[in-house]
Amino acid sequence: MTIAISNFEKGARAIALKTNILIVGGSFAGLAALNQFHKKFSKEPQERKISVTLVEPRAGLFNALGAPRCIVNPEFAQTQYIPFTKFTKYSFNKVLTADPRLKEELLKSNSQGSPLELNFIHGKINSLNATEAQYQLNGSDNKSNISFDYVILASGRDRQWPVTPKAHDKAIFLDEMKDSRKKIADSQIVSVIGAGAVGVELAADIKVEFPDKTVNLIHPHPTFPPEPLAESFKESVKKSFEDAGVKLHLNVRIAEEMEGGDLVATNGDVISSDFNLWCTASRNNLDYLSDELQTKFLSPKKNLSVNKYLQLSRDDNELPNFYVAGDLVEIDVIKSAGWALHMGIQAADNISNMILNKEPETTLPDVSLWPKKMAIVAGKGDIISCRGPDVVINEPRLVQEFVTYRFGSCFEIVGYE
Ligand SMILES: Cc1cc2nc3c(=O)[nH]c(=O)nc-3n(C[C@H](O)[C@H](O)[C@H](O)COP(=O)(O)OP(=O)(O)OC[C@H]3O[C@@H](n4cnc5c(N)ncnc54)[C@H](O)[C@@H]3O)c2cc1C
Repeated sequence: MTIAISNFEKGARAIALKTNILIVGGSFAGLAALNQFHKKFSKEPQERKISVTLVEPRAGLFNALGAPRCIVNPEFAQTQYIPFTKFTKYSFNKVLTADPRLKEELLKSNSQGSPLELNFIHGKINSLNATEAQYQLNGSDNKSNISFDYVILASGRDRQWPVTPKAHDKAIFLDEMKDSRKKIADSQIVSVIGAGAVGVELAADIKVEFPDKTVNLIHPHPTFPPEPLAESFKESVKKSFEDAGVKLHLNVRIAEEMEGGDLVATNGDVISSDFNLWCTASRNNLDYLSDELQTKFLSPKKNLSVNKYLQLSRDDNELPNFYVAGDLVEIDVIKSAGWALHMGIQAADNISNMILNKEPETTLPDVSLWPKKMAIVAGKGDIISCRGPDVVINEPRLVQEFVTYRFGSCFEIVGYE
């Protein structure tokens, strides 16, 4: 797919920065942390404002939970990406971007009354070691360094397009979603490969939007989704797809996608298909981490190991000023936006304490005895949820939350008013 690259200014300059707190990633975990710093230092203003630098390649908050519906419904997609210019609570002092319009809009909000000295970098962290980070602006080759006292790593995970869109601003994101809808609309047989929670919701949303199309959901195991959840839940989800007329291909592993879309299974069977959506993998956004940090802190599952305060910690190694929040954290829970918000707040509380010469004190709860829970959009758009062995279809509270794919529930925590 070709995406227009926005109106980036060639030769935009990246400059070296010093900041008290660097936040890598401005989604659920990163913004929950930013909002918590805002609250903390509003209550306890410092003689010299604490500087916070947010680095995020998107110019807004995208609700990954709503991705499956965005892909088939561009009008809905409109509601699932909130530009940072609409986060009126935050006042930006410095904006580094190759997009002059974005810079002008964000700097309009600059107010003396803000408790933080807030910088926004519209780009990515490229490398990060124990003392320094390097960033690169979107649409520019220009790179520069950031030195920091504390860092929160909240760069989450990416999936295959279009579940993780490529766009760095809202207008281009909407073009991507129109493009994905068109690809599906133009195909008679659409296949979703991988029935993890993401593949399940994608297949459900496609069948709801295009009831006359053949929708295949292909999975290498007999049941789905694969998370450690009650069998009764998995059975309910499966039945909902059968009732909705989605074609289930279970115990089938795809070896190859042919030109034109047909899929060849490892047993040699061919599944006819016109357009395929691969939902087989996700990967943590951690390429920027130095080899030394990777060796010391990556868990066998390629997540980052932390202590109960969310500080980077593994075996005998610990970096007390490095915090991790959200999907990157090695923890025995089903990864969720709820956990990302919770951890963002926790990391910010503990860093605030350290800045105020106190000990970090907010700890992760002991999750080992917690029942596993999930709520998922399944066949016919039903919301099927479970908490331990209890399964409910279309619990009214969840049905209401899923009108916005739960986006509304996070606004207060990320500081969107
Ligand atoms: C289809 C789907 C359905 C889901 N359904 C649910 C659900 O019903 N309930 C639920 O609670 N959770 C759900 N989740 C999971 C939820 O979306 C994640 O747990 C949550 O988004 C994690 O938040 P995060 O802030 O850790 O990371 P992310 O949301 O992944 O955000 C990471 C941010 O970091 C940025 N970034 C990446 N690399 C860099 C870099 N090098 N430098 C700077 N920034 C960087 C990215 O652009 C992104 O904005 C779903 C996910 C998907 C995909």
